[in-house]
Amino acid sequence: AKTEERNTLRFYTPMMHASTSRRLLLATELRQALVREEFRLVYQPSIEMRTGRIVAVEALVRWQHPDRGEVLPSEFIPVAESLGLIRRIDEWVMQTACAQIEAWDLAGMPPVRVAVNVSARGFGHTAFVDGVSRAMQQRRVPPGRLMLEITESAMLRMGDDTERTMRALHALGLEVAVDDFGTGYSSMAYLKLPAVAYLKIDRSFVSGLPESTDDVAIVEAMLAMSRSLGLKTIAEGIETEAQHEFLMRAGCNEGQGYLYSYPLTASAIEKLMSPRSLR
Ligand code: C2E
Ligand code: CA
Ligand code: CA
Ligand code: CA
Repeated sequence: AKTEERNTLRFYTPMMHASTSRRLLLATELRQALVREEFRLVYQPSIEMRTGRIVAVEALVRWQHPDRGEVLPSEFIPVAESLGLIRRIDEWVMQTACAQIEAWDLAGMPPVRVAVNVSARGFGHTAFVDGVSRAMQQRRVPPGRLMLEITESAMLRMGDDTERTMRALHALGLEVAVDDFGTGYSSMAYLKLPAVAYLKIDRSFVSGLPESTDDVAIVEAMLAMSRSLGLKTIAEGIETEAQHEFLMRAGCNEGQGYLYSYPLTASAIEKLMSPRSLR
């Protein structure tokens, strides 16, 4: 953790002011990371509030740097975005997640939804839908097993083309979650888009529950609105029993957070999901 701290704070954060040579070094390292397969996915379970069953996992990318150790996405994704490498990372994540779904199916694991985060740049690109479709076909991913998490700000950035892309995703049988809902320039209009089936309540609203009357009001309003629109809700960043209690009583469908599980390796997920571990 010490090395990670040193590196993340000293090396990655000041990138804005970093010299061109440093940027080039990181660019080279990120490109090499793709070739050298230094990325890996971890998976965080999403539980059904009512039953406590694991119904989904969210794929989260990690960079296993040879010297720096594990680098978190909050550190390298903004850099990859500014370097124009994010689409290649997105593609790798999509292909790896689809391969994992196939492997889990072959191993006879209970079929859980696998959620993949999509960057704004990736979502906005004309080749996006084709890429997703190809990855699904290659691995014979049944519709309903793959879900895309797209932030409001990504939808906003894309403007008029958002609806056309959503229609295309819907036609592929894909469902979309609006990620980080309420943190950007919120527009309720996104919730009406085809393919949008889930609303993810951002951790920034969950962390204040149940003490903050503001957060209680906001979360209750989000849940009521989702219900009337026929959307399912997933709360992220649940860390305490009190947060779990509140969200369950308020009728939130699914929850994710350290209270239930940290993001885990694929094999740890398999162990968690195997009939044996249910006792
Ligand atoms: P996000 O989509 O909102 O993902 C949730 C983040 O919260 C994850 O951090 C997760 O590890 C963390 N988290 C989960 N439960 C808890 C909790 O109970 N407490 C706290 N404090 N944190 C919790 P992570 O993995 O570092 O990802 C950060 C962000 O990076 C993600 O936010 C997402 O926007 C982006 N990201 C992650 N993986 C990918 C990816 O494969 N592709 C793209 N384009 N973006 C990704
Ligand atoms: Ca997400
Ligand atoms: Ca979030
Ligand atoms: Ca997010």
